[in-house]
Amino acid sequence: MRFGVIAVPLALTSLFACSSDGGGGGGPAYQAGGTTATGGQGGNATGAVGGTGATGSGGTSSGNGGTSTAGNGGTATAGNGGTATAGNGGTAGTGMGTFVNVTSPTEGQTFQLGTLPKTATIPFAVQASPDVVAVEYVIETDFSLGTSTTPPNFALDYDYQYVGMRWTEARAKDAGGNVIATDIVNFVIEGSTNSGPCLTELDALGVSYTDTNARGVTDGVKLTGPLNGVRFTQTDTDNDATSPIACEFVKQLYLFAGLAKARGFVKIGTLGSHCYRCCCSWSQTNYCRGPNDPEPSCSSYSNHSWGRALDIRYLYKADGTRYDLNNNAHWKKGSSSTTCTSGLAAQTGISRELYELICEAGAQQIFSLALTANHNAAHRNHWHVDIGNTGRAPYSDIDESRDQR
Ligand SMILES: [Zn+2]
Repeated sequence: MRFGVIAVPLALTSLFACSSDGGGGGGPAYQAGGTTATGGQGGNATGAVGGTGATGSGGTSSGNGGTSTAGNGGTATAGNGGTATAGNGGTAGTGMGTFVNVTSPTEGQTFQLGTLPKTATIPFAVQASPDVVAVEYVIETDFSLGTSTTPPNFALDYDYQYVGMRWTEARAKDAGGNVIATDIVNFVIEGSTNSGPCLTELDALGVSYTDTNARGVTDGVKLTGPLNGVRFTQTDTDNDATSPIACEFVKQLYLFAGLAKARGFVKIGTLGSHCYRCCCSWSQTNYCRGPNDPEPSCSSYSNHSWGRALDIRYLYKADGTRYDLNNNAHWKKGSSSTTCTSGLAAQTGISRELYELICEAGAQQIFSLALTANHNAAHRNHWHVDIGNTGRAPYSDIDESRDQR
């Protein structure tokens, strides 16, 4: 339940609604019960006290209803309404209305990221009226976590990776795909207490790498095997990417690989990570400095300088199918201000898969910044992703430019 929109007590009440609501006091808030009553709050009482419903606070519990008005009353009133006719039972029990109530997670529930990998699996589930055939779960950024078509609870697990106060909206849909009821639940994801040395964490994750030194890079590594089941390779070859990457960035790429893996990708072809230079684009004069080159004269450095950025061009499915971000049919260019809103919504096919992947990374705040072809011509052929020059920013931009690249 979203704070301030649907009162929490009503949300909790609704869990018990089926055995209590509408027992005469239901009134218009629970139309199946006590249709002649006006005492909304009375609906929360049992049938026995339904009689007082008429003097209840009249319809205030319609908040519980809104989209679910008749629903809670429905099951309740058949019983309570009947025996509690004193409570204005009226034409009790005439069917369920439309409703959806999130039952998992519970309101305000707290989760903790695992040690490694640092993720928390949130089990979503609802109670819903029989006319609901699908429930889509959508998070703060309007990003869809997925849709369940499996009644009665429409359960769906999702691995969260970013901590903080979170909320998710369950959107119940009818057979025509129309949203007929919604419910929001708030919950909290707390960080992992694990903060061991970065390379130790890579070891614990089972990452295969070799240590390397590179100008500007802290705890530099070269990957020598898959990262979370996904290989990061040199352009469109089968060779492991050789560019030095900062260990802290590898941990974020590990999480990104998890998202890619879940979407069926097994290999990511890169255009490189490390390049010690000024912001923003590579050029003949803004080239990648070696260890003995003079310091470039920069107002700001590229995040590639620190091995904390990566350019991605190709993504491969298990059957070898190659998606190329430089292919206009694979990544359909749109406006930079709507990449993950109307841009995402408008995509189909391969482009939809690619938009969903990068926008999921944005929603999960895996990177500080991701730039796509929608940003500018320099990024037409790749995604640039980075985690800034120091700590990871508490936001994740897609196609904005508050950071260096
Ligand atoms: Zn880049």
